[in-house]
Amino acid sequence: MRDRRYDILFEPVRIGPVTAPNRFYQVPHCTGMGHRYPRAEARLRGIKAEGGWGVVSTQETEIHPTSDLTPANEGRLWEASDIPAMRLMTDAVHEHGSLAAVQLVHNGLHSSNRYSRCTPLAPSSAIIISDDPVQARAMDTSDIARFRRWHADAALRAKAAGFDIVYVYAGHDMSLLQHFLLERHNHRSDEYGGSFENRLRLFREVIADTREAVGNTCAIAVRLAVDELLGAEGIRHDVEARDIIEALADEPDLWDVNLSDWSNDSQSSRFSVEGFQEPYTRFVKSVTSKPVVGVGRYTSPDAMVRVIGKGILDFIGAARPSIADPFLPKKIEAGRIEDIRECIGCNICVSGDNTNVPMRCTQNPTIGEEWRRNWHPEIIPTLKSPESHLIVGGGPAGLEAARALTQRGGDVVLADARSEWGGRVTQESRLPGLAEWARVRDHRLWQLQQVQNAELYLESRLTAADILEYGIANIAIATGAVWRDDGVGRVHRKPLPFLVKEKILTPDDLMGDGVDAIGSDGSVVIFDDDRFYMASVLAEHVVSAGHKVTFVTPSPVVAPWSDNTLEQQRIQKRLIELGVEIVPSNQLAGMSHDSLTLACTYSGRTREIACGQLVLVTSRAPRDTLWHELHALQAERKEAGIKSVTRIGDCLAPGLIAAACYSGHLYARAAGETCAAAPLREDMANLE
Ligand code: ADP
Ligand code: SF4
Repeated sequence: MRDRRYDILFEPVRIGPVTAPNRFYQVPHCTGMGHRYPRAEARLRGIKAEGGWGVVSTQETEIHPTSDLTPANEGRLWEASDIPAMRLMTDAVHEHGSLAAVQLVHNGLHSSNRYSRCTPLAPSSAIIISDDPVQARAMDTSDIARFRRWHADAALRAKAAGFDIVYVYAGHDMSLLQHFLLERHNHRSDEYGGSFENRLRLFREVIADTREAVGNTCAIAVRLAVDELLGAEGIRHDVEARDIIEALADEPDLWDVNLSDWSNDSQSSRFSVEGFQEPYTRFVKSVTSKPVVGVGRYTSPDAMVRVIGKGILDFIGAARPSIADPFLPKKIEAGRIEDIRECIGCNICVSGDNTNVPMRCTQNPTIGEEWRRNWHPEIIPTLKSPESHLIVGGGPAGLEAARALTQRGGDVVLADARSEWGGRVTQESRLPGLAEWARVRDHRLWQLQQVQNAELYLESRLTAADILEYGIANIAIATGAVWRDDGVGRVHRKPLPFLVKEKILTPDDLMGDGVDAIGSDGSVVIFDDDRFYMASVLAEHVVSAGHKVTFVTPSPVVAPWSDNTLEQQRIQKRLIELGVEIVPSNQLAGMSHDSLTLACTYSGRTREIACGQLVLVTSRAPRDTLWHELHALQAERKEAGIKSVTRIGDCLAPGLIAAACYSGHLYARAAGETCAAAPLREDMANLE
């Protein structure tokens, strides 16, 4: 039963000629599927509608080959032959009574057109925004007229594909319309450049064109970046954005407002809190009478009610919360608040799109697998034969395997050596900025505590003999991994012979004993060959305890992989502000009791730096001794009635927390299946 306090979230809201059934609005977000995997895309969006999102949007959808984001897998409405693929999505959304929205885009200066080889278009001649050595040409007035035609034609194709809401997009520094608005991109001296009214002209015209093309049946939404966090160099919410919205106030049917660029809009939880966009977007409703949608990683229904009740927004916009839990609205509606799988703000979903593959999610292992594996986020078929499972290790892999198996009706015993659940997630969540990561543990543990078919044992370090004695039919070994203390990683593929063992610490030491593990003898050097978040988080941790830190990495920048989670710039900035000395492009070449020898990764030139303690963040070794022992005891296993022993998560291959959850989920899905179906492939041409 729904709590009456949340009724306001379930009110229908009119958007021009259409009506949203409630206030839950999945704003446009990338999936890494787009035009190349349209069935997968459609199924994912359909499940959001099934989960109660009243509006479900596409990702950015290119309107023309001059806006070609290849190799990214975005939506595409270049021509009529693209309509059937998009129709799959609108049908899937309409099946559940939700509205389907399409974010039409021309990327202007943002697309290098690698596939189409068209010359990029921009308000003024300029080098494009991405790293490609490509320049855009300045559009003349006939180009502008053509662009307006392309946009209107794409809107008509969107209507033919069944969309209810058609976007005019000026956000993220990814849109030609935004490029025309911005003084830093628009250096024109004709009627489309110079004054504010002139720079606004094309935006106003395209809104009118879109209304004329499809406005009789489709709502027209505008997505606008209301702040770029660039000060006077960009759009500011209290200056330029206010002027734009005042000038166009009631021309669209809906305002979708957010921060720009993407790294500001999708800030990770390390750098932002729930509702972080409110200071920038709250003014919008005072300037327009049209409904307003905004985002801010809202996962709490109380926060959502506050935002609507106080008149800050009309719709709760969500990308990541709807990825982590596509059924978030339905759970609020059913009064199942504790069942919500809250987004942890880690941006692994974003990394999928940034690496041009279907997205993954740390909290939701089924995302991206809806079509190809037929996985539903809330439903798993009951086990055909109700065999028992012993799961050794209660980190993300073990917890997810146990949770999903109990959901399937299996009897599960879960044991962990430690005095607390969560394994690495619990430890990492105590590091600076990562507190929300504990939600990975909390969600699963709570589920396991509600059911009768799970037995949970802490402080239970199991041996092979223990496991044989229990004689439970199926064993999952989810014992995790340990950080290596021998230097082996990407750049050093063999153990380093010169390391002074008593001067070495690993992330496990710092997470286990905290910064007390650091002695008082001089400065700390962190050597990062992992190249994601861990080393930089430890640097913050060690600095906050009053130590001086030198950050050495073979990479040219700090934490390069965090570019994929939109965090790299913020991480490097934070370390600089904390006074961490950054030594890029160097590897380890020697060590004494108080110094390190570094070698330049390019020239091999060496130099010495002071080092009281060396923290190695390189790679991890599976904690798989137990699996090897059990594997060797073939006859004993048979005698004990053990049918399977399977390594999962980091014990199989150390990786992301998302990979551990997925591994646990996969184990639970595969249980009892003699021959699991291979995932479907959408990228194969039908040769029949
Ligand atoms: P993953 O990411 O694969 O879930 P973690 O390292 O987070 O791995 O979790 C592994 C868990 O396994 C840790 O909490 C650890 O205490 C536990 N563990 C390791 N060895 C044993 C064992 N022999 N018996 C019980 N628990 C164990
Ligand atoms: Fe949230 Fe992380 Fe999942 Fe993205 S991957 S939706 S940030 S939990």
